Amino acid sequence: MNLILFGAPGAGKGTQSAHLMETYHIPAIATGDMLRAQRRAGSVLGDQVKSYMDRGELVPDALMIDIIKERLQERDAKGGFILDGFPRTVAQAEALDGLLDQLGRRVDAVIYLRVSRQVLLDRLVHRYSCRTCDAVYTFTPQQARNLPRCSVDGGELYQRPDDFPEIVAHRIDVFLRHTAPLIDYYGAQHKLENIDGQMSVAEVRSDITRRLGALRKGAGSR
Ligand code: ADP
Repeated sequence: MNLILFGAPGAGKGTQSAHLMETYHIPAIATGDMLRAQRRAGSVLGDQVKSYMDRGELVPDALMIDIIKERLQERDAKGGFILDGFPRTVAQAEALDGLLDQLGRRVDAVIYLRVSRQVLLDRLVHRYSCRTCDAVYTFTPQQARNLPRCSVDGGELYQRPDDFPEIVAHRIDVFLRHTAPLIDYYGAQHKLENIDGQMSVAEVRSDITRRLGALRKGAGSR
């Protein structure tokens, strides 16, 4: 299955993509994590994207399209993939369709996690990330006074600069302006699965699994 997890920053894409990866044994490709890995490695690309990311702006389409083009051709993505954080603009979606077309593939479903602005703001300003592996956690200000280490790799937890309140608000605006038009783009292709992202993690997970199960059944009986 070739899936896109779609939603505003803080909608729960990373959490659900980990579940999907387990269920379908396909890799989750998170462009934000890929970019942060480049920054950690001190690469030229990492330097190029730094200022866009820290300001909560989108990295230019041409750069992102090149990155995805390469990544989708790696061996582990040949049997399917979950995209988290791409596409973020209509130009990126069009490029993805063109690229998959050349490879004789297509997007099977776009899972849209719907969450209100207030809930997004609340989640993001309480979000802490691991400096080395990007795992995310939520802590109240009280808990944050004594931050634990990352339970995945023991790394230091920190607040991403783009999770600071002023930048978070801007990222949500950027989502509404540049990324939300994809709801119509994929709606017109009848690929959009609209899911209430404010339910519990387990409920969202089972809703996604149920919808994808129905899609696979439909595809099998066609
Ligand atoms: P979140 O999951 O909170 O939305 P990400 O980790 O996916 O955040 O992305 C962090 C930043 O990386 C974005 O604000 C943007 O600057 C950059 N980025 C990631 N993916 C893309 C993309 N497809 N197009 C442009 N910029 C991107």
